[in-house]
Amino acid sequence: MLYQNNESFLITVVLLAVFMIACLLVIVARYIIVSKRNEQNLIAAKRLNDAIMESTKYIIIATDPQGKILFINKQTEVMMGYYQAEILNRIIPRRWLLTEQFLDRYEELKREFPTMGMDFDVFSKRPTRDGMEISEWTFVRKNGEQFPVKLTITPIKDEHKRISGFLGVAEDLSEWNSQRDALKESEETFRIAMENASIGKALVRPDGKWLRANRALCALLGYTEDELKQMDFQKITHPDDLETDVGLLKKTLAGEISTYQIEKRYFHKNGTIIWALLSVSLIRNLDQSPKFLVSQIQDITDKKNMEQRKNEFISLVSHELRTPLTSIRGSLGLIEGVFAAELPEKVLHLITLANRNSERLILLINDILDLDKISAGEMSFDISPQPLADIVRQSVDTNRSYAETYGVIYRIEPGPENVIVDVDTSRLMQVLANLLSNAAKFSPKGEVVTISLQVANGNAIVKVADKGPGIPVEFRPRIFDKFSQADASVTREKGGTGLGLHISKMLIQRMNGEIGFMSEVGEGTTFWIKLPLQEQA
Ligand code: ADP
Repeated sequence: MLYQNNESFLITVVLLAVFMIACLLVIVARYIIVSKRNEQNLIAAKRLNDAIMESTKYIIIATDPQGKILFINKQTEVMMGYYQAEILNRIIPRRWLLTEQFLDRYEELKREFPTMGMDFDVFSKRPTRDGMEISEWTFVRKNGEQFPVKLTITPIKDEHKRISGFLGVAEDLSEWNSQRDALKESEETFRIAMENASIGKALVRPDGKWLRANRALCALLGYTEDELKQMDFQKITHPDDLETDVGLLKKTLAGEISTYQIEKRYFHKNGTIIWALLSVSLIRNLDQSPKFLVSQIQDITDKKNMEQRKNEFISLVSHELRTPLTSIRGSLGLIEGVFAAELPEKVLHLITLANRNSERLILLINDILDLDKISAGEMSFDISPQPLADIVRQSVDTNRSYAETYGVIYRIEPGPENVIVDVDTSRLMQVLANLLSNAAKFSPKGEVVTISLQVANGNAIVKVADKGPGIPVEFRPRIFDKFSQADASVTREKGGTGLGLHISKMLIQRMNGEIGFMSEVGEGTTFWIKLPLQEQA
């Protein structure tokens, strides 16, 4: 029995032992697996950490609480010029951190905080044991070169919240600083250039308020810069020029045009009128919203006054010349027509020449007087609904004899009859006469000038097409300018003032129309006039 009891006891003990060993094995196996996994995690974290440390553009230094260097990254070696081997386990060298200008500060800090006793603390403007400190500092390379950095010092704490070291991260500010200096320099250059410019310059807000005005502008307008800053340009702009200026400004702000230039009038503080040539360009923010306008304002008052006196003089002379010239031409025409048979050939030749020249002079004088009137806004327009086909026919009939002197034939193409436009008949006939006479003048002898009338998109279009030499490409942009002629020698031979098309354009614009041309050198030219059709009631 005892034996039996002993045997079962033994079996129980053995089983227990086996069970405990099995448990132990499981625990050991688990421990090995977990620690293996932890080790792998640690290796992965370390690799990641190393990769960050090596690839960053920041200088990274870790120290113990006394400032002894425990770690530096690759960038620190590159930037500071030290190898890890010569720097690890050393207190941060004072010459790294302390340029001459900071030595005093360092000494001061040491006196203030005698207990700290480590160079590391001078990193920060105010020494601290907890929290992060960010400051701008100057680092000194091994070779003595200095460079500015933005330095962040973070205390590293152990599980008891005691400082176990410091982590310093520094960003090189050299490039940033040089960009900042370059910006400052360019701003300063701009300021000096603006301030000392001999012509008026200003910065203006998009709503028209003056932001800055230079000395020349203040002198021109009679206000101080502070007085100008209290108002907008609209306040001192002549009312007749306000609409044009504000209209162009709106177009600029809307991005339809990038700059504009106009001649306009300002009121001087003393009430007198200043004529100025204004050039405006818009500066935009990065998001393309309007920032401010740069305005250049040049005093052209003298030039304008002179121009006005000149125009007055020309129109006075023209007026004075017109009457006697008309009578001279009348007399010469009479002699040429009635007494031709009785005159010796040489005298008749001279009379014909004088007659032609007096006709040219009258043409010129009439053109100048017209121009004068249109520019001064004094030309009256009697606008009413008119049948365009009739006006075209009438113009062609009136000018036919002129074309015949060049051996040229006018031919009207069949077209719509009932075309009504709002025009001043005599002004429109003046424009058509100019186009018809040019077409005849520049056509080869025996050629046909074709006149047509069409209707398209709410407009009536009259075309005068010739088979002349065409208009040289380089002359085209100037063709509607005052006194512009393609070739002076040709013109002398053909006659003309170079004013006809300029006047025609102004007249057509006053009748809400447009004028233009298509030309092929060597093939011919087609001038066209576009007039809006009268709205059907
Ligand atoms: P002008 O009195 O000199 O004809 P315009 O202003 O009418 O003045 O014309 C200006 C210039 O444009 C002319 O001198 C000529 O050089 C050119 N021009 C005008 N019409 C024609 C045309 N149909 N063919 C060729 N050149 C032309």
